[in-house]
Amino acid sequence: MSHAQVDVSEIHWLMDMFQTVDVGLVVLNCDYRIQVWNGFMENHSGLTPRQVRDRYLFDLFSEIDEDWLRRKCDPVLLLKNRAFTIWEQRPYIFKFRNYRPITGSAEYMYQNSTIFPLTDTRGKVTHLCFIIYDVTDVAVSRLELESMNGRLRQLTKIDFLTGLFNRGHWEENLLQEFKRLQRYNHQSTLLMCDIDHFKRINDTYGHAAGDEVIRAVADAVRSNLRATDIAGRYGGEEYAILLVDTNIEQAACLAERLRQSVEQLKINYNSQQLGATISVGLAQHDKNMTEHRQWIEAADKGLYQSKAAGRNKVTCHRFDEVTG
Ligand code: GH3
Ligand code: MG
Ligand code: MG
Repeated sequence: MSHAQVDVSEIHWLMDMFQTVDVGLVVLNCDYRIQVWNGFMENHSGLTPRQVRDRYLFDLFSEIDEDWLRRKCDPVLLLKNRAFTIWEQRPYIFKFRNYRPITGSAEYMYQNSTIFPLTDTRGKVTHLCFIIYDVTDVAVSRLELESMNGRLRQLTKIDFLTGLFNRGHWEENLLQEFKRLQRYNHQSTLLMCDIDHFKRINDTYGHAAGDEVIRAVADAVRSNLRATDIAGRYGGEEYAILLVDTNIEQAACLAERLRQSVEQLKINYNSQQLGATISVGLAQHDKNMTEHRQWIEAADKGLYQSKAAGRNKVTCHRFDEVTG
Protein backbone atom coordinates (compact mmCIF):
# COMPACT_ATOMS: atom_id res chain seq x y z
CA MET A 1 0.00 0.00 0.00
CA SER A 2 1.42 3.44 -0.94
CA HIS A 3 1.76 6.31 1.57
CA ALA A 4 -0.99 8.17 -0.23
CA GLN A 5 -3.37 5.22 0.18
CA VAL A 6 -2.58 4.96 3.91
CA ASP A 7 -3.31 8.66 4.37
CA VAL A 8 -6.60 8.43 2.54
CA SER A 9 -7.81 5.49 4.64
CA GLU A 10 -6.75 7.23 7.84
CA ILE A 11 -8.67 10.33 6.86
CA HIS A 12 -11.62 8.10 6.08
CA TRP A 13 -11.53 6.62 9.60
CA LEU A 14 -11.10 10.02 11.13
CA MET A 15 -14.11 11.28 9.24
CA ASP A 16 -16.13 8.30 10.46
CA MET A 17 -15.14 9.02 14.05
CA PHE A 18 -15.81 12.71 13.61
CA GLN A 19 -19.31 11.93 12.33
CA THR A 20 -20.28 9.36 14.97
CA VAL A 21 -18.63 10.69 18.15
CA ASP A 22 -21.21 11.54 20.82
CA VAL A 23 -20.19 15.16 21.24
CA GLY A 24 -20.89 18.14 19.04
CA LEU A 25 -18.00 19.48 16.96
CA VAL A 26 -18.31 22.86 15.30
CA VAL A 27 -15.63 24.94 13.61
CA LEU A 28 -16.17 28.65 13.00
CA ASN A 29 -13.97 31.08 11.13
CA CYS A 30 -13.01 34.36 12.76
CA ASP A 31 -16.20 35.97 11.42
CA TYR A 32 -18.29 33.39 13.27
CA ARG A 33 -19.33 31.64 10.08
CA ILE A 34 -19.79 27.90 10.37
CA GLN A 35 -17.19 25.80 8.54
CA VAL A 36 -17.58 22.37 10.08
CA TRP A 37 -20.65 20.66 11.59
CA ASN A 38 -20.50 17.02 12.65
CA GLY A 39 -23.14 14.27 12.85
CA PHE A 40 -24.08 15.05 16.47
CA MET A 41 -24.87 18.66 15.53
CA GLU A 42 -26.78 17.54 12.44
CA ASN A 43 -28.87 15.02 14.41
CA HIS A 44 -29.83 17.40 17.15
CA SER A 45 -30.38 20.55 15.09
CA GLY A 46 -31.94 18.91 12.06
CA LEU A 47 -29.63 21.05 9.90
CA THR A 48 -27.17 19.40 7.51
CA PRO A 49 -23.57 20.59 7.10
CA ARG A 50 -24.53 21.94 3.70
CA GLN A 51 -27.38 24.01 5.17
CA VAL A 52 -25.18 25.62 7.80
CA ARG A 53 -21.99 26.06 5.79
CA ASP A 54 -20.78 29.68 5.82
CA ARG A 55 -23.84 30.83 7.74
CA TYR A 56 -23.30 33.46 10.43
CA LEU A 57 -23.73 31.60 13.75
CA PHE A 58 -25.85 34.27 15.45
CA ASP A 59 -28.24 34.54 12.46
CA LEU A 60 -28.84 30.82 12.39
CA PHE A 61 -29.19 30.42 16.17
CA SER A 62 -30.79 33.63 17.34
CA GLU A 63 -31.19 32.25 20.88
CA ILE A 64 -27.42 32.48 21.45
CA ASP A 65 -26.50 35.60 23.42
CA GLU A 66 -23.98 37.10 20.99
CA ASP A 67 -22.30 39.48 23.47
CA TRP A 68 -21.83 36.72 26.02
CA LEU A 69 -20.37 34.22 23.55
CA ARG A 70 -18.09 36.79 21.93
CA ARG A 71 -16.75 37.70 25.38
CA LYS A 72 -15.96 34.00 25.86
CA CYS A 73 -14.32 33.69 22.42
CA ASP A 74 -12.25 36.92 22.38
CA PRO A 75 -9.45 35.48 24.55
CA VAL A 76 -9.47 32.31 22.43
CA LEU A 77 -8.90 34.34 19.27
CA LEU A 78 -6.51 36.92 20.74
CA LEU A 79 -4.55 34.96 23.35
CA LYS A 80 -4.98 31.41 22.08
CA ASN A 81 -6.60 30.47 25.40
CA ARG A 82 -9.17 27.78 25.89
CA ALA A 83 -12.60 28.79 27.13
CA PHE A 84 -15.33 26.78 28.80
CA THR A 85 -19.04 27.17 29.33
CA ILE A 86 -20.95 25.20 31.93
CA TRP A 87 -24.63 24.46 32.26
CA GLU A 88 -24.87 26.03 35.72
CA GLN A 89 -23.98 29.36 34.08
CA ARG A 90 -26.11 28.96 30.95
CA PRO A 91 -28.06 25.74 30.41
CA TYR A 92 -26.96 25.49 26.76
CA ILE A 93 -25.34 27.21 23.80
CA PHE A 94 -27.45 25.50 21.14
CA LYS A 95 -31.08 25.08 22.07
CA PHE A 96 -31.68 21.41 21.22
CA ARG A 97 -34.71 19.47 22.37
CA ASN A 98 -33.98 16.70 24.86
CA TYR A 99 -35.01 13.30 23.52
CA ARG A 100 -33.39 11.10 26.13
CA PRO A 101 -35.96 8.79 27.71
CA ILE A 102 -34.30 8.68 31.15
CA THR A 103 -33.98 12.42 31.50
CA GLY A 104 -37.33 13.05 29.86
CA SER A 105 -38.16 15.70 32.45
CA ALA A 106 -35.75 18.17 30.83
CA GLU A 107 -37.17 20.06 27.91
CA TYR A 108 -33.80 21.03 26.46
CA MET A 109 -30.38 19.46 26.30
CA TYR A 110 -28.10 20.85 29.00
CA GLN A 111 -24.64 21.50 27.58
CA ASN A 112 -21.10 22.13 28.68
CA SER A 113 -18.64 23.25 26.07
CA THR A 114 -14.96 23.74 25.39
CA ILE A 115 -13.80 26.34 22.89
CA PHE A 116 -10.24 26.25 21.60
CA PRO A 117 -8.26 27.99 18.85
CA LEU A 118 -7.22 26.39 15.56
CA THR A 119 -4.09 27.86 13.99
CA ASP A 120 -2.58 27.88 10.52
CA THR A 121 0.95 26.65 9.82
CA ARG A 122 2.38 29.97 11.00
CA GLY A 123 0.61 29.74 14.31
CA LYS A 124 -2.00 32.40 13.56
CA VAL A 125 -5.47 31.70 14.91
CA THR A 126 -7.82 31.32 11.95
CA HIS A 127 -10.69 29.32 13.41
CA LEU A 128 -12.51 28.44 16.61
CA CYS A 129 -13.45 24.89 17.48
CA PHE A 130 -16.38 24.16 19.79
CA ILE A 131 -16.88 20.82 21.53
CA ILE A 132 -20.43 20.51 22.83
CA TYR A 133 -21.10 17.95 25.59
CA ASP A 134 -24.60 16.72 26.40
CA VAL A 135 -24.75 16.87 30.22
CA THR A 136 -28.53 16.57 30.57
CA ASP A 137 -28.30 13.45 32.80
CA VAL A 138 -25.99 15.14 35.28
CA ALA A 139 -27.90 18.42 35.26
CA VAL A 140 -31.30 16.83 35.74
CA SER A 141 -30.22 14.62 38.61
CA ARG A 142 -28.46 17.55 40.29
CA LEU A 143 -31.50 19.80 39.88
CA GLU A 144 -33.82 17.08 41.17
CA LEU A 145 -31.62 16.52 44.19
CA GLU A 146 -31.53 20.22 44.92
CA SER A 147 -35.28 20.60 44.69
CA MET A 148 -35.79 17.49 46.80
CA ASN A 149 -33.41 18.85 49.44
CA GLY A 150 -35.26 22.14 49.29
CA ARG A 151 -38.59 20.37 49.80
CA LEU A 152 -37.17 18.31 52.66
CA ARG A 153 -35.76 21.42 54.32
CA GLN A 154 -39.17 23.00 53.97
CA LEU A 155 -40.91 19.92 55.40
CA THR A 156 -38.80 19.95 58.53
CA LYS A 157 -40.07 23.47 59.26
CA ILE A 158 -43.76 23.00 58.69
CA ASP A 159 -46.45 21.47 60.85
CA PHE A 160 -48.22 18.87 58.75
CA LEU A 161 -51.77 19.43 60.05
CA THR A 162 -51.93 23.21 59.86
CA GLY A 163 -49.22 24.29 57.42
CA LEU A 164 -47.95 26.75 60.05
CA PHE A 165 -44.35 26.61 61.24
CA ASN A 166 -43.73 23.78 63.68
CA ARG A 167 -42.63 24.56 67.18
CA GLY A 168 -38.92 24.05 66.59
CA HIS A 169 -38.72 26.32 63.59
CA TRP A 170 -41.02 28.91 65.10
CA GLU A 171 -38.91 29.09 68.26
CA GLU A 172 -35.78 29.50 66.16
CA ASN A 173 -37.42 32.53 64.55
CA LEU A 174 -38.36 33.87 67.96
CA LEU A 175 -34.79 33.49 69.14
CA GLN A 176 -33.48 35.45 66.13
CA GLU A 177 -36.00 38.20 66.76
CA PHE A 178 -35.11 38.22 70.45
CA LYS A 179 -31.43 38.72 69.60
CA ARG A 180 -32.31 41.51 67.16
CA LEU A 181 -34.38 43.27 69.82
CA GLN A 182 -31.48 43.11 72.29
CA ARG A 183 -29.47 45.21 69.86
CA TYR A 184 -32.06 47.61 68.43
CA ASN A 185 -34.82 49.64 69.96
CA HIS A 186 -37.73 48.02 68.21
CA GLN A 187 -41.01 46.83 69.70
CA SER A 188 -42.31 43.36 68.98
CA THR A 189 -45.09 41.46 70.68
CA LEU A 190 -45.68 37.79 71.29
CA LEU A 191 -49.14 36.29 71.18
CA MET A 192 -50.02 32.84 72.53
CA CYS A 193 -53.45 31.32 72.00
CA ASP A 194 -55.10 28.10 73.06
CA ILE A 195 -58.45 26.62 72.01
CA ASP A 196 -60.95 26.61 74.85
CA HIS A 197 -62.30 23.32 76.19
CA PHE A 198 -60.79 21.48 73.33
CA LYS A 199 -60.97 18.14 75.14
CA ARG A 200 -64.75 18.43 74.95
CA ILE A 201 -64.61 18.75 71.15
CA ASN A 202 -62.44 15.64 70.96
CA ASP A 203 -64.62 13.75 73.40
CA THR A 204 -67.90 14.75 71.77
CA TYR A 205 -67.07 14.54 68.06
CA GLY A 206 -63.90 12.48 67.93
CA HIS A 207 -60.25 13.13 67.28
CA ALA A 208 -60.68 13.70 63.52
CA ALA A 209 -63.22 16.45 64.22
CA GLY A 210 -60.73 17.94 66.68
CA ASP A 211 -58.12 17.97 63.93
CA GLU A 212 -60.52 19.80 61.65
CA VAL A 213 -61.02 22.47 64.33
CA ILE A 214 -57.24 22.84 64.82
CA ARG A 215 -56.89 23.34 61.06
CA ALA A 216 -59.75 25.87 60.86
CA VAL A 217 -58.33 27.96 63.72
CA ALA A 218 -54.93 27.88 61.98
CA ASP A 219 -56.60 29.23 58.82
CA ALA A 220 -58.14 32.02 60.87
CA VAL A 221 -54.72 32.82 62.33
CA ARG A 222 -53.22 32.93 58.85
CA SER A 223 -55.91 35.17 57.41
CA ASN A 224 -55.53 37.70 60.24
CA LEU A 225 -51.78 38.06 59.91
CA ARG A 226 -49.54 40.34 57.89
CA ALA A 227 -46.69 39.02 55.76
CA THR A 228 -44.09 39.86 58.43
CA ASP A 229 -45.87 38.05 61.28
CA ILE A 230 -44.57 34.60 62.15
CA ALA A 231 -47.09 32.00 63.25
CA GLY A 232 -46.42 28.51 64.54
CA ARG A 233 -48.28 25.59 66.03
CA TYR A 234 -46.81 25.61 69.51
CA GLY A 235 -48.54 22.52 70.87
CA GLY A 236 -51.64 20.38 70.28
CA GLU A 237 -54.20 23.19 70.09
CA GLU A 238 -51.90 26.06 70.92
CA TYR A 239 -50.59 28.65 68.52
CA ALA A 240 -47.81 31.15 68.94
CA ILE A 241 -47.57 34.29 66.85
CA LEU A 242 -44.67 36.70 66.71
CA LEU A 243 -45.76 40.17 65.68
CA VAL A 244 -42.62 41.89 64.47
CA ASP A 245 -42.34 45.66 64.94
CA THR A 246 -45.72 45.77 66.66
CA ASN A 247 -46.34 47.27 70.09
CA ILE A 248 -48.74 45.73 72.60
CA GLU A 249 -51.63 48.10 71.78
CA GLN A 250 -51.45 47.26 68.07
CA ALA A 251 -51.06 43.58 68.89
CA ALA A 252 -54.11 43.67 71.19
CA CYS A 253 -56.22 44.95 68.27
CA LEU A 254 -55.04 42.09 66.10
CA ALA A 255 -55.62 39.58 68.91
CA GLU A 256 -59.15 40.85 69.46
CA ARG A 257 -59.87 40.61 65.73
CA LEU A 258 -58.53 37.04 65.73
CA ARG A 259 -60.57 36.10 68.82
CA GLN A 260 -63.73 37.36 67.13
CA SER A 261 -63.05 35.64 63.84
CA VAL A 262 -62.53 32.29 65.60
CA GLU A 263 -65.73 32.83 67.58
CA GLN A 264 -67.59 33.28 64.30
CA LEU A 265 -66.18 30.17 62.64
CA LYS A 266 -68.63 27.56 61.44
CA ILE A 267 -66.58 24.44 60.90
CA ASN A 268 -68.23 21.75 58.85
CA TYR A 269 -67.49 18.22 59.90
CA ASN A 270 -69.53 15.18 58.80
CA SER A 271 -72.62 17.31 58.15
CA GLN A 272 -72.32 18.87 61.59
CA GLN A 273 -71.31 22.44 62.31
CA LEU A 274 -68.69 22.90 65.01
CA GLY A 275 -67.62 26.09 66.72
CA ALA A 276 -64.64 27.06 68.85
CA THR A 277 -63.27 29.90 70.90
CA ILE A 278 -59.72 30.80 71.85
CA SER A 279 -58.07 32.44 74.82
CA VAL A 280 -55.16 34.75 74.07
CA GLY A 281 -52.21 36.08 76.04
CA LEU A 282 -49.92 38.88 74.87
CA ALA A 283 -46.56 40.20 76.01
CA GLN A 284 -44.37 42.84 74.45
CA HIS A 285 -40.63 42.31 74.41
CA ASP A 286 -38.92 43.96 77.37
CA LYS A 287 -35.28 45.03 77.49
CA ASN A 288 -34.98 43.43 80.94
CA MET A 289 -35.63 39.96 79.56
CA THR A 290 -32.39 38.03 79.50
CA GLU A 291 -33.56 35.08 77.41
CA HIS A 292 -36.32 34.39 74.93
CA ARG A 293 -38.06 31.83 77.18
CA GLN A 294 -39.01 34.68 79.53
CA TRP A 295 -40.90 36.28 76.68
CA ILE A 296 -42.87 33.07 76.07
CA GLU A 297 -43.57 32.72 79.79
CA ALA A 298 -44.86 36.30 79.97
CA ALA A 299 -47.30 35.71 77.09
CA ASP A 300 -48.30 32.42 78.69
CA LYS A 301 -49.18 34.25 81.88
CA GLY A 302 -51.54 36.44 79.89
CA LEU A 303 -53.06 33.30 78.40
CA TYR A 304 -53.69 31.74 81.83
CA GLN A 305 -55.30 34.96 82.99
CA SER A 306 -57.66 34.79 79.98
CA LYS A 307 -58.54 31.20 80.89
CA ALA A 308 -59.07 32.09 84.54
CA ALA A 309 -61.29 35.00 83.59
CA GLY A 310 -63.71 32.68 81.82
CA ARG A 311 -62.02 31.99 78.45
CA ASN A 312 -62.67 33.51 75.00
CA LYS A 313 -60.67 36.55 76.13
CA VAL A 314 -57.54 38.56 75.33
CA THR A 315 -55.16 39.54 78.14
CA CYS A 316 -52.00 41.63 77.93
CA HIS A 317 -49.28 40.77 80.40
CA ARG A 318 -46.54 43.21 81.43
CA PHE A 319 -43.19 41.63 82.05
CA ASP A 320 -41.99 42.11 85.59
CA GLU A 321 -38.27 41.77 86.27
CA VAL A 322 -38.87 40.06 89.60
CA THR A 323 -41.78 37.73 88.86
CA GLY A 324 -41.26 37.32 85.09
P1 GH3 B 1 -58.67 24.71 78.15
O1 GH3 B 1 -59.80 25.57 77.80
O2 GH3 B 1 -58.24 24.85 79.57
O3 GH3 B 1 -57.52 24.87 77.24
O4 GH3 B 1 -59.20 23.25 78.00
P2 GH3 B 1 -58.75 22.13 77.01
O5 GH3 B 1 -59.76 21.06 77.00
O6 GH3 B 1 -58.42 22.72 75.69
O7 GH3 B 1 -57.46 21.60 77.77
P3 GH3 B 1 -56.06 21.21 77.21
O8 GH3 B 1 -55.45 22.36 76.50
O9 GH3 B 1 -55.29 20.66 78.37
O10 GH3 B 1 -56.37 20.01 76.22
C1 GH3 B 1 -55.78 19.89 75.01
C2 GH3 B 1 -56.21 18.61 74.37
O11 GH3 B 1 -55.91 18.61 73.00
C3 GH3 B 1 -55.52 17.39 74.93
C4 GH3 B 1 -55.19 16.51 73.73
O12 GH3 B 1 -55.83 15.27 73.80
C5 GH3 B 1 -55.72 17.27 72.57
N1 GH3 B 1 -54.86 17.27 71.43
C6 GH3 B 1 -53.54 17.59 71.40
N2 GH3 B 1 -53.07 17.52 70.14
C7 GH3 B 1 -54.09 17.15 69.34
C8 GH3 B 1 -54.23 16.93 67.92
O13 GH3 B 1 -53.29 17.04 67.15
N3 GH3 B 1 -55.44 16.57 67.47
C9 GH3 B 1 -56.52 16.45 68.29
N4 GH3 B 1 -57.68 16.11 67.76
N5 GH3 B 1 -56.41 16.63 69.63
C10 GH3 B 1 -55.23 17.01 70.16
MG1 MG C 1 -53.68 23.46 75.53
MG1 MG D 1 -57.08 24.22 75.37
